[in-house]
Amino acid sequence: MQKAIFLDNAATTRTGAGVVKAMQPWLEQNFGSPATLYSLGSQAKQAIEDARQSLAGLIGAEAKDIFFTSGATESNNWAIKGVAEALAEKGRHIITNQAEHHSILMPLRYLEKKGWDISYLPVDGDGLVDPDAISAAIRPDTVLITTVHANHEIGTIQPVAEIGRIAAEKKIAFHVNAAQTVGHIPVDVNSLGAHLLSISGHKFYGPKGVGALYLKRGVRITPLFHGGSQEKKRRAGTHNVPGIVGIGEAARIARNSMDAEIEKLSGLRDYIFAWVEKNIEDIRINGHRTRRLPNNVNFSLEGIEGESIMLSLSYPTAEGARPVFISTGSACVSGNLEPSHILLALGLPAELAHGSVRISMAKEDTREDIDYALEAIAAVAERLRNMSPVYKRGDKKCTAFDKSAGCDCEAAS
Ligand SMILES: *Cc1c(COP(=O)(O)O)cnc(C)c1O
Repeated sequence: MQKAIFLDNAATTRTGAGVVKAMQPWLEQNFGSPATLYSLGSQAKQAIEDARQSLAGLIGAEAKDIFFTSGATESNNWAIKGVAEALAEKGRHIITNQAEHHSILMPLRYLEKKGWDISYLPVDGDGLVDPDAISAAIRPDTVLITTVHANHEIGTIQPVAEIGRIAAEKKIAFHVNAAQTVGHIPVDVNSLGAHLLSISGHKFYGPKGVGALYLKRGVRITPLFHGGSQEKKRRAGTHNVPGIVGIGEAARIARNSMDAEIEKLSGLRDYIFAWVEKNIEDIRINGHRTRRLPNNVNFSLEGIEGESIMLSLSYPTAEGARPVFISTGSACVSGNLEPSHILLALGLPAELAHGSVRISMAKEDTREDIDYALEAIAAVAERLRNMSPVYKRGDKKCTAFDKSAGCDCEAAS
């Protein structure tokens, strides 16, 4: 098979070569548990503390405020359930928005079933939350405000520092899901005003299955895991030493390479937007045009299914063609007929939400690979549109779609 072009880095990134190298000894000769007192254990303990220092440095925090977890999903669950439980006597109202990641929305739904009251605020057409709306939603029983830093699907960067100021003024705990931003753009817990902040290792060239929760001193929170006394008795379980060493090394590398990565990837991003606008008709760009992640491109193509494009690109039929991996907010084949809740929250009609593609780049991507992927996307879009009984060239409204019928997989594939 020809070398694939991986453009789904918002889902996960390749673990960096330097990261793998740093992890290797902690899987092989230095396999001790940090909870043991002999030398093999104390070496591991030291490695964890070094990683904690490195990750803390990346987000302007103190090492003692970093707690290692299995990833952003755990950190988000811990932040939400832990604060809710610790402050249950004070109040049971939490503020979030409709375009959050499932690892935020699902723990909130769980709390809702147990009697908490959740405000899911709307976002605007670019996916931005309105800080004034957050202000207005605050009640005497509000105990937590949670927002994503940058949306994983459309890349929009939220006005987090502004929300942080509101939370501080009202003395409400403020959680930021920074899974998409840490290691990619500057994140400083103090200037954001975050009391809790979630981090995922595999989103910035670290390994999978490791992350962290920043917990500002004094934040009241109950543990999610009970057991041993690891992480100051706040997160029980034997440490994932290789993973923690890996996220520490990924943080160290990110501090050095971030500026260059931002410049390179935002250039590529703007190049891709200009290219698709020039070369593919009837598209709509999703997410804020400038207040967005450097590595995120998202647009909808009228008249076709995002999933059909995604699958055609990943299984190219032409001799010698390279597979291209992208993502979509539509998932017909997997049996989920609902398009992405995030695209719907922007106010996109269902047919445009179904036609969305996300291209998310990595720091090592080249202009040649991007050009190859763009030509492939344009060719597949043209082929699918030629076969589509519903697409009318230049028909901006896609009127042939029956909105109420939702996703029409048959017609598009
Ligand atoms: C990837 C991601 C998560 C989940 O992180 P894991 O470490 O894979 O559990 C949560 N939120 C956002 C915004 C993400 O991009």
